[in-house]
Amino acid sequence: MTCWSWGRHLQVGMGGMAESPSGPWYRDGLRFECSRCGNCCTGPSGAVWFTAEEGQAMAAMLGVSEATFHRTYARQINGRWSLREHASPQGLDCVFLTRDTSGKSGCRLYAARPRQCGTWPFWAENVVSPQMWEAVKRQTPCPGMGSGPLVTIEEIVARLT
Ligand code: SF4
Repeated sequence: MTCWSWGRHLQVGMGGMAESPSGPWYRDGLRFECSRCGNCCTGPSGAVWFTAEEGQAMAAMLGVSEATFHRTYARQINGRWSLREHASPQGLDCVFLTRDTSGKSGCRLYAARPRQCGTWPFWAENVVSPQMWEAVKRQTPCPGMGSGPLVTIEEIVARLT
């Protein structure tokens, strides 16, 4: 499963923050359009962190108690809650990753997914430099990064915070 707070697929050095007096390197925006390949939700073991409020929202969407949600769908890593993962032909899938008959991925809890999922790939660690952006794109691999409509710097910053 992808999505460590450091993306699970990030095994590359971060390098220095590429910021100039005129703003960050992505000041003109970045292109992104999800192709629903599902790569960001599978692969090597990782974590999908969620807050107490996010856990309550996911439990409510499933119609189960918070305790049942934690017991069935979550695990604790160093005192923090993460979603569970399970093995699939693609790697270790997030417990809520779905695939349709055409292979397109989806999320069983899309409307209540944790912020970590909704802000991908615009994580602070991913946009620290253009080299890191390209490395994450290549290593995930995420074909949506660098393609599709332009995401403005304002939209990127809103997802970073
Ligand atoms: S890896 Fe990128 S293109 Fe594939 S599902 Fe995730 S966000 Fe979408």
